[in-house]
Amino acid sequence: MKYRSTRGQSSGLSFEDTVLTGLAPDGGLFIPHEIPTLPENFLSEWANLSFQELAVKILSLFIDSSEIPTEDLEKLIEKSYSTFRHPEVAPIHKIRERLYILELFHGPTFAFKDVALQFLGNLFEYFLERKNRNLKEGEEPHFITVVGATSGDTGSAAIYGLRGKKNVSVFILHPRGRVSPIQEAQMTTVLDKNVHNFAVEGTFDDCQDIVKALFSEPEFKKEYRLGAINSINWARILAQIVYYFYSYFSLLRDLKISPNSEEAKTVKVQFSVPTGNFGDILAGYYAYRMGLPIDNLLIATNSNDILYRFYETGSYEKQEGDQGGVKETLSPAMDILISSNFERLLWYLSRECEVADSSSSSADQDAGDIIFKWMKELKENGRMSVKPESLAKFKEVFTSRMVNDDDTIDTIKQYYQPSDEATSPYILDPHTAVGIHACESVKSQFSDHYTVSLSTAHPAKFSEAVEKALLGTNNFTFESVLPKEFIGLLEKERRCIHIKENTAEAVKRVLVEQLKKDLQ
Ligand SMILES: *Cc1c(COP(=O)(O)O)cnc(C)c1O
Repeated sequence: MKYRSTRGQSSGLSFEDTVLTGLAPDGGLFIPHEIPTLPENFLSEWANLSFQELAVKILSLFIDSSEIPTEDLEKLIEKSYSTFRHPEVAPIHKIRERLYILELFHGPTFAFKDVALQFLGNLFEYFLERKNRNLKEGEEPHFITVVGATSGDTGSAAIYGLRGKKNVSVFILHPRGRVSPIQEAQMTTVLDKNVHNFAVEGTFDDCQDIVKALFSEPEFKKEYRLGAINSINWARILAQIVYYFYSYFSLLRDLKISPNSEEAKTVKVQFSVPTGNFGDILAGYYAYRMGLPIDNLLIATNSNDILYRFYETGSYEKQEGDQGGVKETLSPAMDILISSNFERLLWYLSRECEVADSSSSSADQDAGDIIFKWMKELKENGRMSVKPESLAKFKEVFTSRMVNDDDTIDTIKQYYQPSDEATSPYILDPHTAVGIHACESVKSQFSDHYTVSLSTAHPAKFSEAVEKALLGTNNFTFESVLPKEFIGLLEKERRCIHIKENTAEAVKRVLVEQLKKDLQ
């Protein structure tokens, strides 16, 4: 399997180059040359596999065994999910009739990004070690310097994915005093030598601007081998495809329906996904295109609703807003202006509905040219639009709803105190609550479906919203939801460098100083 850029300027890349490069040189995102199809008997053959075994089957369709031999892939996957606290990695939990939660928060940082970042960290290490084993006389060893900005969630998942990895250094910038105490502690109590936390005076945007400035200096980028781990990296999407398959099979098991039976064909499945950058739900789209029987993918957004507005209008348009900026909500990991991974989905719409002749040999290239044009329009005018045919194609599988903070709070309350006695209480994190509320608001349209709603974080991670919703009800105390891993975390030893002057120059200086020590 080879990979191409959505913007058409590069193709034929190996999986290894795709992963190590991250973003394509033309600014596009990498996608596979084809979407692989499933073995004919996958329903019966895969139904009872463990999460790890299923991951090997699925990932093998996207990674040639000449690039990663199967036994190495097995080891990488085994290692990546050995850090999860639940034996099933991604279990489902029934909370209402026909409604299941897919718990994606059993990894080291209690959020869904662990599923992909634990694997990505191991992949980086695997590729770099292999390159270094095959070094020629006089060649410098390969390494990668991961630099990222975080408002909390991505940073800790990246740090836990990369801690202790050989030939990898990680620098995470966070705005000093502006991330939640738990998230700050999660990041800064990791004492591995290759992990560097920078607490920058200023806001998250300042941190992000500094990171962008570093990446836009070709010399610096090349000399220090800067790499990115945000959700544009293809390996992250790939790893996430697995839990759509796994939860589909888990659902059928719970319903006591054999996957290969006639009865299974009548089971309509909807996935509801709390969405920000469109990485999580995009993996569901790949599962659907590969042939997993998914009937509907529900894009649940918070008030940063660019995707919901696209669903309504076919125009992808930055928020006008009062300050034209991101709106702060109770589900901060979904506070985005534009969803970077949506470009990948747009490529498929372009390829199938926008190019002049979709059977022509230049159609892949033409699709890339259209994306290039769209992204230019988006950058220059703040908007771009697709043809009605593309929007119709999109709606064949996607639905969308926007959920505001009030509804998020109400949903957390309702599921903590279910009105019927038979349902046991469940504490939703605010992101998960956005997904659940979206299912409820489309229920009349999908009343004969089974819905799997993705839970992207443990409630203890986002205490503000959970406390706001539940304090004063049923003697709720926050301590009762704290996992044992969080107890005492705030008092643990920390390692973090305070960057007083919030400029790219200051960050560069400290980064180089620290990196030299790592490389010794
Ligand atoms: C990152 C994140 C999301 C959004 O996922 P995308 O892939 O960006 O759509 C939702 N919830 C939580 C808790 C997250 O950390």
